Amino acid sequence: MAKVIALANQKGGVGKTTTAINLAASLALLGKKVLLLDADPQANATSGLGFDIDLPGIYECLAGEKEPREVILQSPDIKGLWLLPSSIDLVAADTELPKMEDGHRVMKRVVDTVRDEYDYIFIDCSPSLGYTTVNILTAADTVLIPVQCEYLALEGLSKLLSTIRKVKSALNPALEIEGFLLTMYMRNRLNNQVVNEVRQHFGAMAYETVIQRNIRLGEAPSHGKPVMLYDATAIGSENYLNLAREFLKRNK
Ligand code: ADP
Ligand code: MG
Repeated sequence: MAKVIALANQKGGVGKTTTAINLAASLALLGKKVLLLDADPQANATSGLGFDIDLPGIYECLAGEKEPREVILQSPDIKGLWLLPSSIDLVAADTELPKMEDGHRVMKRVVDTVRDEYDYIFIDCSPSLGYTTVNILTAADTVLIPVQCEYLALEGLSKLLSTIRKVKSALNPALEIEGFLLTMYMRNRLNNQVVNEVRQHFGAMAYETVIQRNIRLGEAPSHGKPVMLYDATAIGSENYLNLAREFLKRNK
C-alpha cells in the first residue's frame, strides 16, 4: 500500500512542484514505484515531466468521468515513475467538489483506487488552502512542506499548520507532517538565519538535506525532465537524490 504524501504550502513559488518532480524521480531511480499526482490546475508538474497539459487527468477522475488507470501516464525516461496529469479544467474543482456527496473525500476515493500499485504517491498542491487542498489533505497520510529560504519564511506557515490540524481533527485523524524542506538556499547570512530559525522551530521535522538555489533546477522543466536527467552533475541533482535517501531512511 502506497504512502500518500501531499506537497503543500499556500505560498506560491516555494518549490512544491520542483520537489514533487525531483523527489518522485529520485525515489524511482532508487528503485521505488512512484506516482506523481498533479493536483494544481497550472499543471506545472505535468509539463515539467514533458507531458501535454490538455489530456484527461485528475479533473476527469474527480468528476467520475475516468478511472485513474485510464489516464495515468508512464514516464518515458524513468522506470518506476508515473504521472496522473492535471489541466486547467481542475480550477472548477473548488466549486464542484463541495456539491458532491461526501465532497471532502472525493480525492481520497480516487487515490485509494490505485494505492496498492505504488510505494509512494506524491500529490502536488496548488498554492491555496481551498476546498481542493482540504480534499488532498484528507486523502494524504502526511504533508511535506517546502519552505523557501527568504525573509519571513515562517510567515504563513501558521495558517497552513492550523489547516492541517483542522483536517486532522475533523476528517483525517491519521494525518501527520512528513517534514519541512528548506529550498532555494544560498550561502549568505539571511539564508543561514532562516535555516537556523526553521531548525529551532521544527527540530528534527526539518530535513537535514537543504535544497540549494541552482539554475539547472529552474531549467530542467522546460526540457520536460527531472533535473537528474537534464544535468546529472548539477548540485540540484545531488540535493534531491540526498533528500530521497534521507526520506527513505525516515520511512524505513
Ligand atoms: P511552487 O510549486 O511552490 O509554486 P516551484 O517548484 O514551481 O514552486 O518553483 C518556483 C520557481 O522557482 C520555478 O520557476 C522553479 O523552476 C524555480 N525553482 C524551484 N526551486 C529552485 C531551486 N532550488 N533553485 C532554482 N530555482 C528553483
Ligand atoms: Mg507548483
